[in-house]
Amino acid sequence: MSKLKLHWRILIAIVLAAVFGTITGTEAAIFGVSFFSIYDFLGTLFLNALRMIIVPLIMATIITGIASLSSGNDLGRMGFKTITYYAASSTIAILVGLAFVNFFSPGVIDGLPVGERLNLTLDSADVDSAVASVEGRGGGDIVQIFIRMVPPNIVAAAANGEMLGLIFFSLVFGYFMSRIPAGPAETMLSFWKGVSETMMKITMWIMQFAPYGVFGLVAKTVAATGFEAFLPMLWFFVTALLALLTHMFIVMPLLLKFVGGVSPLAHIRAMAPAMLTAFSTASSSATLPITMECLQEKSGVSERTTSFVLPLGATVNMDGTALYECVAAMFLAQAYGLDLSYTTQFTIVLIALLTSIGVAGIPAASLVAITVILTAIGLPVEAIGLLLVTDRMLDMVRTSVNIFSDSCGAVLIAKSEKETGILV
Ligand code: ASP
Repeated sequence: MSKLKLHWRILIAIVLAAVFGTITGTEAAIFGVSFFSIYDFLGTLFLNALRMIIVPLIMATIITGIASLSSGNDLGRMGFKTITYYAASSTIAILVGLAFVNFFSPGVIDGLPVGERLNLTLDSADVDSAVASVEGRGGGDIVQIFIRMVPPNIVAAAANGEMLGLIFFSLVFGYFMSRIPAGPAETMLSFWKGVSETMMKITMWIMQFAPYGVFGLVAKTVAATGFEAFLPMLWFFVTALLALLTHMFIVMPLLLKFVGGVSPLAHIRAMAPAMLTAFSTASSSATLPITMECLQEKSGVSERTTSFVLPLGATVNMDGTALYECVAAMFLAQAYGLDLSYTTQFTIVLIALLTSIGVAGIPAASLVAITVILTAIGLPVEAIGLLLVTDRMLDMVRTSVNIFSDSCGAVLIAKSEKETGILV
């Protein structure tokens, strides 16, 4: 088993997890210990290990990344390319979603809005739990995104996993660190480089346990939700899934090939462990260490580019999330029989783009952004209760899309910077 490549081992773990999760459900037990609690233990241990290294990893990589883009020109150029890529790829993703949801119209069956059939008038207990489950997940109000970017207390921000604040602080820190006298500046740089390299080593060590962790996470999800739950929502599920897969396996590869001149297949192969980890954790932030590792070691992108593009991308650039927000909001609008004028559709596209920036890289975070869209187009936020049914499965896929797009951005930018060590 250990001779197999990591991504194969993770894939086998996912398949085994689906089988075990289905067979055992939440009740079955062995020697008085439920299988479910074993899955939970394995999954939580792995997720915790990844989360444990996020704060020092993000800080150290961004600080060294910014400080080593020594001149203001370098920084401006990289910054411009990165932001342009984020905006362009997310917009393309949303348009892919828009095309699919208009074509398939999952919210309309036999010419009638499916609202009633899907029981959109949910009872209040469901609504309360749906709303409670999305609270505190970031996203939200667009002005709030800026407010959260400048946290009043950086230690509290780090402790609470407020990534936007942490990223902003690290950017500023790295920038000014390279503007102090040479002596102390060098000491600081080698300190942060040391932290960053140590975190990467720890990542490599944690990755060896990925198949077990992934097994636990996936088996737990399958055992808890089963597959029947989302049959009534099947059409919506298929629409969102096809759109996400199209973006990941058709649009992005075309971009890689024709804009970057890199081999999409080789890059997908290189990123497979990260994509599979994103799939099972449904968290871009938790996957970040593995994304960085794969990109540097297997795709051969420099540390300078990865440390600039990826940590930012894991929070800011979410193609899958933006696409999903659009499909979900359009689906609900169709289901309610709302008139989908161009203005409404444009509003949805714009808010999906803006809110995907503020969505945290954690499971189910999009739901809160969708409530913002629903409010904007005049639908009751309770409708998101419906999305909860299929959310976990689609979250796994959209998170893979999110981190894949970040990695494509890094390769494209590395190419445009004429990096020589690229392996794909
Ligand atoms: N789970 C996603 C991520 O971490 C965010 C979301 O779409 O809910 O990338």
